[in-house]
Amino acid sequence: MTLNVLFAAPEHQWEEYRAPLLREMNAHQLDVSLGLEFAPEDVDYIVYAPTGSMKDFTAFTRAKVVLSLWAGVEAIVGNATLTQPLTRMVDHGLTQGMTEWVVGHAMRHHLGMDAHIHNPNGIWQKSVPPLAQNRRVTVLGLGALGLSAARALKALGFQVTGWSRSLKSEDGITCLHGEEGLTQALSTADICILLLPNTPATENTLNAETIARMPHGAFVINPGRGELIDDSALLAALDHGQIAHATLDVFRIEPLPKDHPYWAHPSVTVTPHIAAETRAETCAEIIAENIRRSEAGEPLLHLVDRKLGY
Ligand code: NAP
Repeated sequence: MTLNVLFAAPEHQWEEYRAPLLREMNAHQLDVSLGLEFAPEDVDYIVYAPTGSMKDFTAFTRAKVVLSLWAGVEAIVGNATLTQPLTRMVDHGLTQGMTEWVVGHAMRHHLGMDAHIHNPNGIWQKSVPPLAQNRRVTVLGLGALGLSAARALKALGFQVTGWSRSLKSEDGITCLHGEEGLTQALSTADICILLLPNTPATENTLNAETIARMPHGAFVINPGRGELIDDSALLAALDHGQIAHATLDVFRIEPLPKDHPYWAHPSVTVTPHIAAETRAETCAEIIAENIRRSEAGEPLLHLVDRKLGY
């Protein structure tokens, strides 16, 4: 029987996703009809993005799985009308993109590149950065994205500490968990990278108290979610120099409002939620594989734990 797969992401993405999704469905020998519109009761699978218009899943009585194109699922995980299993996106394109973005921004701060890029008065002043082996980097969140970034930073020689909900074991990375673990992880965070999901338990992970535990003059890099940081506390810490610079890709309100103090702050770099984009070419494989698994009665990949919220 032909499976009806609804593409419930913004319509402008349809052309980009249609061919890769169909290609992977064919490769998985799935007989599908993929489209932007079906009668809700005829839909078997929903490919979902929070930027699309779908908010109410009640009418999709036959849908077996909702497959998120995004890694972060906070916009849908608490949706009371969603009764189907929810999967999130973990794919090598997304992971590679995030790792490159994190390493790039960490290297910018590590090497002190700004002083040379913005040197309008032509000052010949040497400042030699430490080697990576003498710089401590902390990654908050050791999931698909955090672990990949942590491994890449370790491969460059940095002293890497990671913090997660459950304790991990990773060669060459100091792995910590729990409240005490966070205190320890922050105490060595010359550069702190946030790759936690947005859940009730992670909100304001960086606040006045936790920021005070970081080394003076630390750098913050947040490609996780805006809610992970208490913005007022961060701005105060930037003003006092406790935090030397914050590179922020994600915000509580996106796009970041024009009058938000982050835009004008000399020690803040704003990037427009571009750290890691889901790419149709690589994510299509995961979507098709999960539909295949669902049809075969096999466990789904990257199933969201609705209680934990990620
Ligand atoms: P993931 O695989 O689910 O990893 C999340 C990590 O956070 C895990 O290590 C988890 O611990 C840890 N964690 C969760 N709750 C915690 C808590 N209360 N205390 C301590 N650690 C906790 O997620 P991912 O795929 O790496 O993605 C991480 C986030 O990146 C996403 O949720 C999304 O918000 C963000 N993201 C941003 C972009 C962008 O373009 N800016 C793109 C993609 C994703 P356990 O390992 O013990 O479960």
